[in-house]
Amino acid sequence: MAARLLSGHEVAEAVYEELRTRLKEHPFVPSLRVIRLGEDPASVSYVRLKDKRARALGYRSQVEVYPEDLPEEALLRRIQELNADPGVDGILVQLPLPRHIRTERVLEAIDPLKDVDGFHPLNVGRLWSGGEGLFPCTPLGVVRLLKHYGVELKGKEVVIVGRSNIVGKPLAALFLREDATVTLAHSRTQNLPEVARRAEILVVAVGRPHLVQKEWVRPGAIVVDVGVNRVGDRLLGDVHPEVAEVASALTPVPGGVGPMTVAMLMYNTWKAALLRRHGVPA
Ligand code: NDP
Repeated sequence: MAARLLSGHEVAEAVYEELRTRLKEHPFVPSLRVIRLGEDPASVSYVRLKDKRARALGYRSQVEVYPEDLPEEALLRRIQELNADPGVDGILVQLPLPRHIRTERVLEAIDPLKDVDGFHPLNVGRLWSGGEGLFPCTPLGVVRLLKHYGVELKGKEVVIVGRSNIVGKPLAALFLREDATVTLAHSRTQNLPEVARRAEILVVAVGRPHLVQKEWVRPGAIVVDVGVNRVGDRLLGDVHPEVAEVASALTPVPGGVGPMTVAMLMYNTWKAALLRRHGVPA
């Protein structure tokens, strides 16, 4: 039996519907400022998507584009100005940054209350300690997508392949908060196919086209493919399509986790705006 396809577009639409309702309940206009350095085509396209979606929801959205050789100090100064600007709710610096800029310094400069990407160490700490904060968009999107389709997370055996600060690690924290049992695998994991096969829910965030074969997947498992790999003019996931023969459900690439990332950025921007105005958790 072929796996059920879990559409990120469908769930993202449900998130937008919910946000439209919440915007009516709390009459404020969230504002998002995205900073981009240089002209990396993937970054240009991601930033455009975020800006377009924010505007479609009625947010105030502005993109600031700087040359690739902008000095680190100038970027940090600009972030300080935006931190102090009461008209800005969310600040996002599009990654990756040019090599001369220390990403850590930039992420730590953003006011944690405006940190809509959820990468500031204070938000990372709150995520792991179980507190309230702004958490990374792609992991939030994965959990939201699974919940939308009625997937029970409590007590489940979850294996995440990939341990980046952007996807794997924060996702492990979110699954723990949902009472799942989590294994975080990576490039040094021994017997990776065997480890992956333990999973009732397998999430792959590696960046290697079609790495995960059907032999890696426990029959009936739910598989979430975070990977986005440009191969020629095609976008391929980290999971081989033949996995659909053994999994019970699978996210497509494109159209799975990607749309959820943008949707959860819109949620975080709204949440940041709410927290700053009313100081209450969303
Ligand atoms: P990183 O390159 O930061 O991390 C990749 C992780 O995969 C690392 O932990 C690395 O291990 C691990 N890894 C690499 N090769 C292997 C291997 N052969 N076997 C097992 N593990 C391996 O990537 P990101 O987390 O930023 O992104 C991962 C993928 O997700 C990419 O394709 C990216 O484009 C996509 N992505 C998609 C998003 C979306 O919205 N759909 C958002 C963000 C990312 P180690 O730590 O040991 O080096």
